[in-house]
Amino acid sequence: MTAELQQVEGLQINRWADAIINEHQTLLTVKHLVRETRMKHSDATGEGMGSNGFLGVDLISVRSGHGFTPHTHPGDHILICVAGLGTITFAGKIYPTRAGEIYMIDGKQPHAVGARTDHSILAVGAPHMPVDSLERMTPVEYDKIEAGADGLACLVCGADVVAGFFLHEAGCEHCPCHECLPPVREEGCDCAVCSAVA
Ligand SMILES: [Zn+2]
Ligand SMILES: [Zn+2]
Ligand SMILES: [Zn+2]
Repeated sequence: MTAELQQVEGLQINRWADAIINEHQTLLTVKHLVRETRMKHSDATGEGMGSNGFLGVDLISVRSGHGFTPHTHPGDHILICVAGLGTITFAGKIYPTRAGEIYMIDGKQPHAVGARTDHSILAVGAPHMPVDSLERMTPVEYDKIEAGADGLACLVCGADVVAGFFLHEAGCEHCPCHECLPPVREEGCDCAVCSAVA
């Protein structure tokens, strides 16, 4: 289904999933769709689900094997995994995530998000920026993801490397480096990644 929005002053209702509701349980069906807008610095796609300009929520879809290169953003995010399997790389570790889980991220600390299958996330954030805003996320150099840890460890496949080496060199398919999760360079952007000489 495509999102269906009802809006009156002060109220926005957005139907983002089909639901089968019976007496004892509710089953949500979340289609692994490409969404209407490509997000900046990434090939992930998103769709705004509601915003008052300060607090907002978006439905984001990431294709299997793709993701968000290491980045920071203004404010914190609550990420509600609603479809498929993913990863979050934070402070030297890659954690597995899956539909049915929620995580919250300090936006100031570099992190990366990956998809182990087609993966969809509801992202709640304040301050809220539209999905195609250049200010929403700022890519950072890959080594920032180690965040003072003495290397990187993947809790999905068990691979680990010391600082200065890449997890893909140890056979990890979840590595969030710029080669494995290439940042998309954006015209006119002066972030560290876009302004670096290719
Ligand atoms: Zn791995
Ligand atoms: Zn890599
Ligand atoms: Zn940039």
